Amino acid sequence: MTETPILDNHLHLDPVNGRGVAAAAEFADAGGTHLLVLNKPSWSLVDGVGDEAAFRETFEITCDVAAAADDRLPGRAWPVLGVHPALVSRLVDDGHTPADAADLMQAGLDVAAEFVADGPALALKSGRPHYEVPDAVWDASNRVMRHAFELGAQLGCVVQLHTEGGETFEQIAAWAESRGLAREQVVKHYAGGPVEGPVPSVISNREGLVAAAESGDPFLMETDFIDDPERPGAVLGPKTVPSRVRWLREQGHEEAIRTAHVETPARVYGIDTEGTLSDTHRRSA
Ligand SMILES: [Zn+2]
Repeated sequence: MTETPILDNHLHLDPVNGRGVAAAAEFADAGGTHLLVLNKPSWSLVDGVGDEAAFRETFEITCDVAAAADDRLPGRAWPVLGVHPALVSRLVDDGHTPADAADLMQAGLDVAAEFVADGPALALKSGRPHYEVPDAVWDASNRVMRHAFELGAQLGCVVQLHTEGGETFEQIAAWAESRGLAREQVVKHYAGGPVEGPVPSVISNREGLVAAAESGDPFLMETDFIDDPERPGAVLGPKTVPSRVRWLREQGHEEAIRTAHVETPARVYGIDTEGTLSDTHRRSA
């Protein structure tokens, strides 16, 4: 059996309320090698909501825990920073107009962009609500997402998206392209399988993974582990991606494993998951 890199493309580590780096250690002990660590929504980590200082503090906490995870893994951990699309509803509930809320969220993305431009963040995160919202809130959310695409194009970085479910996101891909960001640099987080438009980051349920593997198209794998002690069973745990990789191998999907853990990460983010795997790990493999 050849050992390959194993990347969880979207997981949260919460050093304030959750297990933090211990969850990354559990991932590594299960055979995982690389992580993209997403910031939790600002409101679950810090006091202020929607102001620049709150975003900055949220991003710093996330970069610190990602650095700790990076030390613990045989490969690398990179932060992915952005503004959760549900923030729009919180801000509107607090009395902001949708347009005001969009401005605040765009300012948050501008702060995230600094962490990409100056390091250490790898990519941005944006999107729009996955639940029904009034038209004005929907339009404001789309404006925020398009702003993220502009930043991604300027920085040459990927934008991960949190959106409604579904399989067709052609319009979103076209919006990205019209702002200079290739559709291959847009990743649909929490995809149920193959999607049209962006690159799917498939939530690691067996059915969706098999559909993605059989599509022959680029895809990534994720857990969206939220590291929330109050909701222990709400999501897949940190060992899930390594265990699903073993399962895919048993099913004969060796090529899809390479697609999701080597080729797609290289093509989408420009990261080398093989070259960044430590020699010790390779020897023990
Ligand atoms: Zn998430």
